[in-house]
Amino acid sequence: MGVYDLIVRGRYVVTCDAAMTVIEDGAIAVRDGVIAAVGPAEAVGRDADRLVEAPERILMPGLINMHCHAGDSLFRGLVEDLPLEPWLETVWKAERAILNRQTCRVGAELGLAEQLIGGVTTVMDMFWHPEATVEAARELGMRLATGGIFFDYPGMDGKFADARPGDTESFFAEHAGNDRVIVGVQVHGTYTVSPEALKVAGAIAERHGAFFSTHAAETEVEQATVSERYGRRVVEHLDDLGLLGPRTVLAHCVHLSDDERAAIARSGTHVVHNPLSNLKLASGFAPVAALHAAGVNLTLGTDGAISGNDLDMFLAMRLCATLAKAATGDAAALTTHAVLAMATRNAARALGREDSLGSLEVGKAADFVTLAIDRLHAAPLFDPITHIVYSANRADVADVYVAGRELVSEGRLVTTDASRLIAEARALVPAILASVGRA
Ligand SMILES: [Zn+2]
Repeated sequence: MGVYDLIVRGRYVVTCDAAMTVIEDGAIAVRDGVIAAVGPAEAVGRDADRLVEAPERILMPGLINMHCHAGDSLFRGLVEDLPLEPWLETVWKAERAILNRQTCRVGAELGLAEQLIGGVTTVMDMFWHPEATVEAARELGMRLATGGIFFDYPGMDGKFADARPGDTESFFAEHAGNDRVIVGVQVHGTYTVSPEALKVAGAIAERHGAFFSTHAAETEVEQATVSERYGRRVVEHLDDLGLLGPRTVLAHCVHLSDDERAAIARSGTHVVHNPLSNLKLASGFAPVAALHAAGVNLTLGTDGAISGNDLDMFLAMRLCATLAKAATGDAAALTTHAVLAMATRNAARALGREDSLGSLEVGKAADFVTLAIDRLHAAPLFDPITHIVYSANRADVADVYVAGRELVSEGRLVTTDASRLIAEARALVPAILASVGRA
């Protein structure tokens, strides 16, 4: 028996600690699923039950996708290149016809497995039948942040608004004490949920000390709708209802007034930037550099596969960095360090898990990735963080560990059969096409 369960040695260890420390010829040692040592390989030693030598790899924290609807992967590419309203009409028709607990499970497993193999170890997900997403995450061995949905209209799960608070409470009760499931409240948006229901959702989140997540200020139409209905803008509305704060996570925040931006910064509210979704749906350019300058804790997301088509967090990082520069006309806007922090340590903070997730530091969970650098696009490699943000891609992900357990090995899923997932998704194609009159 070694001192440690596992030691992985790599060319670089990108820790994502507060100083974004990089250790050349470094190693991570794991005991009982937790990082027991991290440092120069010689200092960490070799005394482990399993020793992995990876001289052509970067070791980095598992990425955290802070906004996703994994189950929507079933509808990837179904309808494209239409304005938002007719596009949504078709997607909703298909969702209404197809989604049930079992198909949500198929979609969730497909979407989560795609992310896991791409280096993501924790996902914040908002979708119908969140218990199906929990099952999928458990099967794969990933961490999941999710919870009861709030939506005023009859949902794709066949439920009505009055069932939502009870369902949300049951979800908390069921997953209390499970460190793989971070439970919170998932509110669709201020234009689809009444002020009364928003307050109920906020009170539940507060009672459990849990996150309160919602779409906010994604489009101009949303801002106009909320302004007309309530006489105030989306983030002002949330602020007036007492719903901003350090447990609140707002997805998008593309269209913000100066006052809204200030309110987000002042309250310690977290923001999830979804660059690909914003680009493809022509939502606009989120003021990421300005939010960063205002001290807002920024995180990154892929959104669902109906609005971004894939769930690639490496692409999200690269788009985030390049878009911030293009949108501000400042090539110095948003550094590589800031962008990598968004996908790792900032996300852990937004989840209230900065003590256990988001960086490779002693005492934190052993959630990490090995990234292959024996690739043409990785040479010559002056700086591993620059490489991760600007030239690496998810196909470079070799191994993925969660709590020290290897879930992806040499680019292959360990805990599930990828070909089964593909077959299950393809089996639904005839029914999906029929649901939108294209059989
Ligand atoms: Zn979304």
